[in-house]
Amino acid sequence: KVSRVYNFSAGPAVLPESVLREAAEEMLDYKGTGMSVMEMSHRSKAYDTIIKEAEADLRELMNIPDNYKVLFLQGGANLQFAMIPMNLMKNKVADYIVTGQWAKKAYNEAKLYGTVNKIASSEDKTFSYIPDCSDLNISENADYVYICENNTIYGTKFKELPNTKGKTLVSDVSSCFLSEPVDVSKYGLIYGGVQKNIGPAGVVVAIIREDLVTDDTLPGTPTMMKYKTHVDAKSLYNTPPAYGIYICGKVFKWLKAQGGLEKMKEINDKKAALLYDFLDQSNMFKGTVVKEDRSIMNVPFVTGNDELDAKFIKESEKAGFVNLKGHRSVGGMRASIYNAMPMEGVEKLVDFMKKFEEENA
Ligand code: PMP
Repeated sequence: KVSRVYNFSAGPAVLPESVLREAAEEMLDYKGTGMSVMEMSHRSKAYDTIIKEAEADLRELMNIPDNYKVLFLQGGANLQFAMIPMNLMKNKVADYIVTGQWAKKAYNEAKLYGTVNKIASSEDKTFSYIPDCSDLNISENADYVYICENNTIYGTKFKELPNTKGKTLVSDVSSCFLSEPVDVSKYGLIYGGVQKNIGPAGVVVAIIREDLVTDDTLPGTPTMMKYKTHVDAKSLYNTPPAYGIYICGKVFKWLKAQGGLEKMKEINDKKAALLYDFLDQSNMFKGTVVKEDRSIMNVPFVTGNDELDAKFIKESEKAGFVNLKGHRSVGGMRASIYNAMPMEGVEKLVDFMKKFEEENA
């Protein structure tokens, strides 16, 4: 008998069960090809259909305008921290908004390539809020303004995009990808690792406006790190993470069947509200983020007592709620409730937290 836990991991994370079952069914013989997608040439007819359908479904889900390219890349979000400046820093100047560890890493990496200005930060209060970005001191010659839109570790989310004063906006959406509708036209580049909301680790999806794809990259930019290389080759310059892209494609179809991103936002809002409402009235558990800036994907919370936190993590795990430990840099707990976490999982977690609170009051 198959036994599944409620997996609150920040990533790699829970995937829709129906997607996993479908992949299992197709494992040995994908649609009469007599082989697994893992064993298939990325230049084959069958694979061509898989990657083209994945792109078409993503375009439909996100309503991606025609002047944007969709890329399936490798190297994790971390490689993008370097690829972005190498490709976009024509003036060798960029502005970064630092709202957490991932934004900070991107900021530090960009410093290898030019002048990088930290135009806003929330580090003064351990990244527990999103700074006011309505009227920042945007650099005159900035090639782009960079944000991490949902901060996985701290559980904050930009509810409004920064006013970039006409500069290109670059956004890391790793932990909020496809969790709600977005207006792609507001960005120059949207990217994220898929291992949270979309698929298995090893794939990065990048959506880039056509005019930003040029040969004019920083000297020494490796061929593999030029967006143009991958645009020209339609994500098949080298062997792509073929199986991962296939699973992403299944998740895109699953999202379409759920009713698309409007519907996902509705469900995600409900799931998050269930947990936040409980935290707000609890005498034991507290959320750690300024209310207005709360993420609907990553929900950090604490009891205020390290021993009690440890006890909660241990007992919750025994009860089938796993990976609730907060990021090693902040401690406490964190429930990541991505698209594939069913409502029932959050309901049961809240019931468990209620019981724990009663028993340990
Ligand atoms: N950005 C965000 C928002 C993340 O949550 C993470 C990772 N968990 C990363 C970047 C780094 O991703 P990767 O491990 O794919 O490089």
